[in-house]
Amino acid sequence: MPIKLPFRPRGGEFPPDLWTRCPSCGDMLYNKQLEKNLRVCPKCGHHFRLRVDARLAHLLDEGSFEERDADLESVDPLAFVDQKPYPERLAAAKVTTGLRDAALWGTGRIAGQRVALCVMDFAFMGGSMGSVVGEKVTRAAEHALDERIPLIVVSASGGARMQEGTLALMQLAKTCAAIARLAEEGVPYVSVMTDPTTGGVFASYAALGDVNLAEPNALIGFAGARVAAGTIAESLPPGFQRAEFLLEHGFVDQVVPRHELRDRLALLLGYLRPAEERVGARAAAGDGVSGLGGFNPLGFLAGGGERETGRG
Ligand SMILES: [Zn+2]
Repeated sequence: MPIKLPFRPRGGEFPPDLWTRCPSCGDMLYNKQLEKNLRVCPKCGHHFRLRVDARLAHLLDEGSFEERDADLESVDPLAFVDQKPYPERLAAAKVTTGLRDAALWGTGRIAGQRVALCVMDFAFMGGSMGSVVGEKVTRAAEHALDERIPLIVVSASGGARMQEGTLALMQLAKTCAAIARLAEEGVPYVSVMTDPTTGGVFASYAALGDVNLAEPNALIGFAGARVAAGTIAESLPPGFQRAEFLLEHGFVDQVVPRHELRDRLALLLGYLRPAEERVGARAAAGDGVSGLGGFNPLGFLAGGGERETGRG
């Protein structure tokens, strides 16, 4: 017999604030237990989406996270209106999620190793990437470079934010440029793709990790399956755009169950040490003594070698 709670409207056997049905195995899961299990179905291993606070708590050493640029907020430069004006959508998303935009970034530690970390939250307007998300990813990358610590980005996104039009699309170039600079300087970047990582986010920073990790069965791709099928006028293979399919085809390096993600990141960070800052690259620019107009042949060769071995 179900327990009768005095202040709960009687809405059937499984009130939705207490229970969630697993879309894979159909089991009813008690929400508190689901949260405790990192929102992974204990019966079939289905990975539910994880909110940003739970993700940070799981990945980082306790109390090590220091958020940066928490006050960045989207504006409405295009005065965009679809069914609702963009500012109204933003306001609603802020209320329901308690966030200011779909990503936040900061520094923290994973098993003692300092990292710059940017995490997206699908609950905020489908994790769409507007100027704020792009700026946060970029600042996280720039900070990683300055401090010479690894960058980790956990993506969850439907793609670029249509309400910011071209300004959203510009974030692809901006984030890619920042990550290219990390690559040039030998500072590691690990991308973690969670369900879903699609559109402009997959087409930019999410696919550019030195190591690209994905959660099991995450939807990962650029265009939606229907668009892809329409374009090639063929039916799609089973498992199309799922993490395991991308692993098989070389877009993803490892599929990592959520429970193992923190340890896997710690292991990878142990291997991927940021390169020492090259004296050649930065110092040569302001050094008039060499007489080679800032060109440092040793630094240049060392840098090339580092790229070969570090990036291969
Ligand atoms: Zn299940």
